[in-house]
Amino acid sequence: MTIVFSRTENESVYLDPRNNFEPQTVISKTRRDPLTGQISRIFPFRKLMLHQHDWTPFVEESKQKFCPFCPEVMEQVTPKFPAPIAPEGRIRVGNAVTVPNLNPYEKYAAVVIMTDRHYVPMNAIDTQLIVDSFRAGLTYLQRAAAIDPDGARYGSINWNYMPYSGGSLIHPHLQVLAGPEPCTFDNRLITASAKYARDNSSNYWTDLVQKEAVSNERYIGKTGRVHWLSAFAPRHVGEVLGIMPGRKTIDDITDQDLSEMAAGLQNVIKYYESGNIASFNAALYLARQEDEGFTAHLRIVGRFTIFPLAGSDITHMQILHDDPWSVIMPEVLAEDIKKMHFNQ
Ligand SMILES: [Zn+2]
Repeated sequence: MTIVFSRTENESVYLDPRNNFEPQTVISKTRRDPLTGQISRIFPFRKLMLHQHDWTPFVEESKQKFCPFCPEVMEQVTPKFPAPIAPEGRIRVGNAVTVPNLNPYEKYAAVVIMTDRHYVPMNAIDTQLIVDSFRAGLTYLQRAAAIDPDGARYGSINWNYMPYSGGSLIHPHLQVLAGPEPCTFDNRLITASAKYARDNSSNYWTDLVQKEAVSNERYIGKTGRVHWLSAFAPRHVGEVLGIMPGRKTIDDITDQDLSEMAAGLQNVIKYYESGNIASFNAALYLARQEDEGFTAHLRIVGRFTIFPLAGSDITHMQILHDDPWSVIMPEVLAEDIKKMHFNQ
């Protein structure tokens, strides 16, 4: 097993105006993701204190505007799939409905309208909502792959919850895409997982879970077969991974997997809510049968703004330098989620 958790401490010296301009040494920390080598910077706050965020004004304003996903108009204003993908026009699972994305940004791009409710607060996100929606997304990916195996080789299911996450509509929806090649980060994961498998004759994700469970520094818990970890080198604040051992492709994921994934995801969302992290991005990463060493997993990151109502948590570091940062220590995150929402 060759998983290395690489940390660097950088010493910076300045003359401190708070202490008569005496020299002051300050430590900053960078980490590298053990699989991809991606740098992540951890800002030295033990805990992020955010103000409670009330979405009510946004929700009320959005109700006054046109919402294409609300049940009164959905059938008239959302597109339908051509018959080879969905003879019925739209893919329905429970209350979830998959429709084509009116503005596609990949060869196969769909939106899952997760529910007929216009707004679902964090504490009302339940297992059924998640299971039905992800199943509706997976069904679309399977049908796209069935009619166009080359054009829909790689897919993912993505959730932008509320405006800080980049979501343009309040109405809960998933973004589902598939194309001939994986997204850039997905490709790094797939390539690095295959290299790890070749070099170590072992699966990175299995080894990671095992190593994290032993050290117990970032291991959060288990919901069924799904293992939950706080990311060592987070891609953003509050990043948690839900790893699904033995699962890799769109065809591997069972309803029970989705149900177990949903149970853990709900716990993470509850933690975000308790910490006033009012928004999140989540993605289910999948690969193909031939991609050695890959394991399907979900990632969720918190989204927020330091200044209420305006501002962003994305800076030059992510946008122009590809270096993510977090203000929550991954070990503190794991401890807090575990304490509050797992193993109760
Ligand atoms: Zn709506």
